[in-house]
Amino acid sequence: MSNTEPAPAEVECRGGVPAPARVEVLTARDVPLGGPRAMRVRRTLPQRQRSLIGAWCFADHYGPDDVAASGGMDVAPHPHTGLQTVSWLFAGEVEHRDSLGSHALVRPGELNLMTSGHGICHSEVSTPGTRILHGAQLWVALPAAHRDGGREFRHYAPPAADLGGATARVFLGTVAGLASPVPTYSPLLGAEIVLRPHARLSLPAEPSYEHGVLVDTGLVSLAGTRLERGSLGYAAPGSAVLELVNLAGEETRVLLLGGAPFEEDIVMWWNFVGRSHEEIAAFREAWQAESDQFGRVAGYAGTPPRLPAPPLPNARLKPRTR
Ligand code: MN
Repeated sequence: MSNTEPAPAEVECRGGVPAPARVEVLTARDVPLGGPRAMRVRRTLPQRQRSLIGAWCFADHYGPDDVAASGGMDVAPHPHTGLQTVSWLFAGEVEHRDSLGSHALVRPGELNLMTSGHGICHSEVSTPGTRILHGAQLWVALPAAHRDGGREFRHYAPPAADLGGATARVFLGTVAGLASPVPTYSPLLGAEIVLRPHARLSLPAEPSYEHGVLVDTGLVSLAGTRLERGSLGYAAPGSAVLELVNLAGEETRVLLLGGAPFEEDIVMWWNFVGRSHEEIAAFREAWQAESDQFGRVAGYAGTPPRLPAPPLPNARLKPRTR
């Protein structure tokens, strides 16, 4: 289509508007978690075009699911290495047990951050009182200096802060001057943001960070790019402001993730983050051999008593480079 005006005016388009950040839209893959009634999740990280946003290396979004139909969540003890897990719920309740001895109830709007260090295992089961399960499971890769450290478990319930047009709960790092007291091992941020109908939000951003916006409900635009429910918009470093607009006539809820680009190549397989195929194979062996590297979960009553590792693929696992 062409402009058919006989004397088109010259238009200066820059104006006072900052150049929009380059936004890449990552659409979710539907993945069954396994088990007889296989709860399904929408996975946006990792994927072929992008493995990491800062140190965020994994993002699963699920629900709202009627537990009566889906069977809810029942994940038997399984191991992790070289990462932190962030459990964030919008509805429902999950009972967490780990080999550090932590026993916690994961509730909506509260951060539960488990650090694997060299090795941990945990189980996750939705509670009998849960009718609707709705949330996200996120992982953070640990940098080399901390990936062989100890196990940790932290709980933090961030206050809901009014940003004018939106409410934010900052669970990691700092967003709009709101800081989480929970330490991170790399420059990182995470927050739940609820935008009121048609709200426009200009969030100050750290220009050296890259950012991701995962849409839980509603419809939003990030720096002018429309993001549907379940998708993850990626904004490259270089912006001092993140422009979020709620395009819907109802509330829109998103998770904002961000951090300094993670410079190390990692190898991810099953529940492990490592640095080489050999290391991942050794983690797998250690889990199968019930090594002390992962410890034991007390109090998990389901079956199987621990999840066996799947077979390694025939091909060598390759690092995910940026
Ligand atoms: Mn896990």
